[in-house]
Amino acid sequence: MKYHEMDKKEVVEALNTDLSSGLEGSDVKKRLKQYGKNELDEGEKQSALLLFFSQFKDFMVLVLLAATLLSGFLGEYMDAIAIIAIVVINAFLGFYQERRAEKSLQALKELSAPQVQVLRTGQWIKIPSKEIVPGDVLKFSSGDRIGADVRLVEVNSLEIEESALTGESLPVSKISGSLSGENPGIGDMENMAFMGTMVTRGSGIGVVVGTGMKTAMGQIADLLQNAESMETPLQRRLEQLGKILIVTALILTALVVLVGVLQGHDLYTMFLAGVSLAVAAIPEGLPAIVTVALSLGVQRMIKQKAIVRKLPAVETLGCASVICSDKTGTMTQNEMTVTHLWSGGQTWNVNGVGYEPKGSFYRGEQPVELEKEKALQQMLMFGLLCNHADLIQKKREYVIDGDPTEGALLVAAMKAEYSREQLLNEFKIINEFPFDSTRKMMTVIIQDGNGRQFVVTKGAPDVLIGRSEEILWHDKKRRLNSETTQTVQSAINDLASQALRTIAIGFKEIPAGTIILDEKEAEKGLTFIGLFGMIDPPRPEVKQAVKECKEAGIKTVMITGDHVITAKAIAKQLGILTNQSKVLDGEALSKMSVEELEEVVDDVSVFARVSPEHKLKIVKALQNNGHIVAMTGDGVNDAPAIKAADIGIAMGITGTDVAKEASALVLLDDNFATIKAAIKEGRNIYENIRKFIRYLLASNVGEILVMLFAMLLALPLPLVPIQILWVNLVTDGLPAMALGLDQPEGDVMKRKPRNPKEGVFARGLGWKVVSRGFLIGLVTLLAFIFAYKSNPEHLEYAQTVAFATLVLAQLIHVFDCRSEKSILSRNPFGNKYLVWAVLLSLLMVLVVIYYPPLQPIFHTTAIIPSDWLMIIGLSAIPTFLLAGSFLLRKPK
Ligand code: ATP
Repeated sequence: MKYHEMDKKEVVEALNTDLSSGLEGSDVKKRLKQYGKNELDEGEKQSALLLFFSQFKDFMVLVLLAATLLSGFLGEYMDAIAIIAIVVINAFLGFYQERRAEKSLQALKELSAPQVQVLRTGQWIKIPSKEIVPGDVLKFSSGDRIGADVRLVEVNSLEIEESALTGESLPVSKISGSLSGENPGIGDMENMAFMGTMVTRGSGIGVVVGTGMKTAMGQIADLLQNAESMETPLQRRLEQLGKILIVTALILTALVVLVGVLQGHDLYTMFLAGVSLAVAAIPEGLPAIVTVALSLGVQRMIKQKAIVRKLPAVETLGCASVICSDKTGTMTQNEMTVTHLWSGGQTWNVNGVGYEPKGSFYRGEQPVELEKEKALQQMLMFGLLCNHADLIQKKREYVIDGDPTEGALLVAAMKAEYSREQLLNEFKIINEFPFDSTRKMMTVIIQDGNGRQFVVTKGAPDVLIGRSEEILWHDKKRRLNSETTQTVQSAINDLASQALRTIAIGFKEIPAGTIILDEKEAEKGLTFIGLFGMIDPPRPEVKQAVKECKEAGIKTVMITGDHVITAKAIAKQLGILTNQSKVLDGEALSKMSVEELEEVVDDVSVFARVSPEHKLKIVKALQNNGHIVAMTGDGVNDAPAIKAADIGIAMGITGTDVAKEASALVLLDDNFATIKAAIKEGRNIYENIRKFIRYLLASNVGEILVMLFAMLLALPLPLVPIQILWVNLVTDGLPAMALGLDQPEGDVMKRKPRNPKEGVFARGLGWKVVSRGFLIGLVTLLAFIFAYKSNPEHLEYAQTVAFATLVLAQLIHVFDCRSEKSILSRNPFGNKYLVWAVLLSLLMVLVVIYYPPLQPIFHTTAIIPSDWLMIIGLSAIPTFLLAGSFLLRKPK
């Protein structure tokens, strides 16, 4: 029999599991061994060996190897072996960089892998979905992705969208009973939920019947190619630029060879020099270093509690000009405590600390006797029945499992010594319409011991009052007229203006035996009972973060489902709402077209009482006005806006799988301040990439120019091929990587957001590359000429001096690259990786100059201190000549 045909008991027996306690640890281990991990097979991965050999696929490297082999056959063994050794070391470096890049991308993928709620040894725990085994009992609710194929055993208004499998985008209602029919299609198996499909409404529990490739998804896994590009805009731009650079480098080296030959150098020497130069000057390592810099930056972001799910977001973060953020939980602590209750014109206060269920009720200064306050009792009781939250005691601390708003109601009721168990003895819950942030209400239908049935609804007060016909006024029902409505309104405003979040509660009795299947039917004609006011204090670090964003040219916009006045009060406290900015509510927003919104959106800093659907409109209007928008969200309905935003951000704690999957960035701590930290890191990563692009390209320009100048001036070769290759190895590898690890400049968060369209050479980078490169080439040539003229007999001496000057000029310039302004604007030795990299590079140069066995291989000779004075003097020029102009500039 198939699982969909079995009843619950048969399923449980077939899979040898237990619905009340789940599987035991040892059993899980056995099953994991037997069935394997709950993963879909991925395509073949490139093996390490292949990756290593792919380092040689570069055309110029192949030409160099061929030329070297040739020179080996012609008797130049030493040169040939040394060149091949350098090429191999270079390949290792490239291999290491690419491997590292790949690994960190893989780690990223794993970090953002989905988690599921599973019952193990009697406890609900969260585990990565790959650890699920057949027989596990899973729980899921709106917004979750189903982790494996399950047979449902309990459903609560459960609806699942199965388009990933069936192509049908309308959600399917699920049931828990058994089905007949041997081979129904996936879309017809209403008592099953399948891996990869998405819960759009309600909640459910199911037993895992298939994992990994043994799921419906596994059967079509081959068709599912994750086509999403992980390449960032800059990487794409660099790829194009790379092609131009290769051609330019080839043309220039060809020119060097041509001029050299015309000036009387022999063709073979010039050819080998030319090929080495081409290998050195083509920045083949650039893409890998960019990936490493990006992924190292991403790892730093993880330490700050932000996970980047899509690499391009790292760059876009630096361009963000508006952050649209949810209020509850992101700007506030999401730790709610009921402090006020209102009914029929009377207000009560509750005291107590945090979620500890201890506190007393007061009216004014007077303690109240609960038995005498019927309305108060009813509010607390209904607040507890229309509620899913649980209070858990962890050591001395109390935490809420579930929605904090409901947690607050639970704790308030517990302070009056109500318990859910006791209430559930008195009332049976026969139906429920779950909360959603568009309706802003939740309803349960309950039945008491005498069979009487009641609808109990809680929700946003301004919504609930519209659904009420009567109001409870000192234990008596009154018709709700304009006067009483007005009174309720001012009570709401009064609570909201104290920055309290408000929830109203209402009820109605329905004839016994009535079955209501439609929430609209249930949530009307209610009797309004009263209001809860709860505090949700702002997170302490948010105010500062908002301020820093402002200084960085980034506007913060609060988007909340909460009441306008509550939102205003909190936005003011956080410095988001100022005298110049406006508040817009969901109702006004609904009436506007995107075009109309564009007109005003730049002045709005708070959107209140909005539904998730409004977020998309806000994103569009801001984008049409030229903004780069970061948008946060957590629910299923937030996903379209998160996807449409330039940087979609999902909450790590409260966020649903659907929101996370749509997002580019996940906040592990749900905290607004983390967005700011990520933006700062994003800006820094981009600046670091600019730093090493500048460094590498200026170095290459210098290398080509010194050769070209020398050939034009009919001089001998200033550098022999192996020296050129060694310069490339020494200067390109470690120092460039170290630049990728640089700390941000002090003013990264004081600059305006970057224009996303700006090219690689924007903001003066092109000029810096050309001018520094030109000077590096020039001083190397001068050093060569001085040395050559002083001792024309001894060419190796002049070449060694040129070699040392070229390396040193680059290694001094690398410190200049740390700043957009000048080497003098920050402590040049602040980056310890760079200091070590440079020291190591220097050592590598000194070794080949001074270690006698290496001298013949590298065509070097020991040079004396006075030479070094000249070398140091000349190599400092490219950096300090132009740094001088920084000092002359007037401060702004
Ligand atoms: P944000 O968008 O800043 O996270 P929010 O959490 O206040 O805002 P919603 O969750 O959409 O936004 O809540 C909107 C309103 O719905 C709240 O102001 C409250 O009155 C009401 N509400 C919130 N949670 C519940 C719930 N569990 N049951 C009933 N009503 C609720």
